[in-house]
Amino acid sequence: MIRKFVWFAVFAVLTAPSASAATAPKVVVSINPVHSLVAGVMQGIGTPTLLIRGGASPHTFALRPSDARALRQADLIFWVGDDLETFMHKALDARGGEKGSVELSTAEGVRLLKVRAGGAWESHDHDGGHDHDAPGGKEKHTGHAEKHEDHAGEHNLHLWLDPVNAKAMVRAIAAALVEADAVNAARYRANAKTVLARLDGLDAELRSSLAPVRRAPFVVFHDAYHYFERRYGLNAVGSVTLSPEVRPGAKRLHEIRSKLLRSKAACIFSEPQFESKLVATVVRGTDARTGVLDPLGGSLPQGPLAYDNLMRNLAGSMIACLKSLS
Ligand SMILES: [Zn+2]
Repeated sequence: MIRKFVWFAVFAVLTAPSASAATAPKVVVSINPVHSLVAGVMQGIGTPTLLIRGGASPHTFALRPSDARALRQADLIFWVGDDLETFMHKALDARGGEKGSVELSTAEGVRLLKVRAGGAWESHDHDGGHDHDAPGGKEKHTGHAEKHEDHAGEHNLHLWLDPVNAKAMVRAIAAALVEADAVNAARYRANAKTVLARLDGLDAELRSSLAPVRRAPFVVFHDAYHYFERRYGLNAVGSVTLSPEVRPGAKRLHEIRSKLLRSKAACIFSEPQFESKLVATVVRGTDARTGVLDPLGGSLPQGPLAYDNLMRNLAGSMIACLKSLS
């Protein structure tokens, strides 16, 4: 009798935690900040899988066989969009289409900014060597790198760096999860509410912490921060590279150096995903200081708070580098 009871207890303990896990959908997310938002909405139900980890960048990412498998087996995939995560085309094709995937740049309420052009944001730099005035007007794109360089007029997809966009994504993420897993609908909705409230708090906090450096000019490694600058009224004056897939040529480095001197930029930021030697070259002999901005946070601990940490780290790096000079 007692023995039977013990077995029942063991059985109950073993099955209880996995009861929701068994019903939790298999979810795969492309980048850490979005993964964090999804993890927040799924808290207590399941844990999403992150594709792009560590120092990898979506601009240059290639799928490992294990990633391809995870994507094939996923019930739900969250990603940002076409021009950022080009590897997703093949992955979605392998699944037989876009069903079960959510391209968040197209979600309701997400506000997109156009790719910047002109001056130090000039996106038709010809370092890449291709001719825009080719007869017939049709350009042959040999790869994503060239495609990326022709972005003028298209959208900048680093849209997660604005908490207001993050809120729109959270709503879309919750809606997709509710649809895919109706049993847990109430939990997804309650979690989403918690995340939305936290994002409001984060937005207010960043606004006040960044206020003292609003006017200080700075140069970034690649044009990833437009959303962040716009939300908090910051003063970025140019980028070292036009498309992170292509190493900038000598002419480009010379231009950005002139820009640095002309604008009296206080700081120039490198990124952990790309080599910082370029930044050292540009900054040599100027008064500008250097800092590091990480737009992806691929190395941050995964989970619901990774998004907030990423944003706080960005603000912290900017404040540290720009503070005394603003
Ligand atoms: Zn980028």
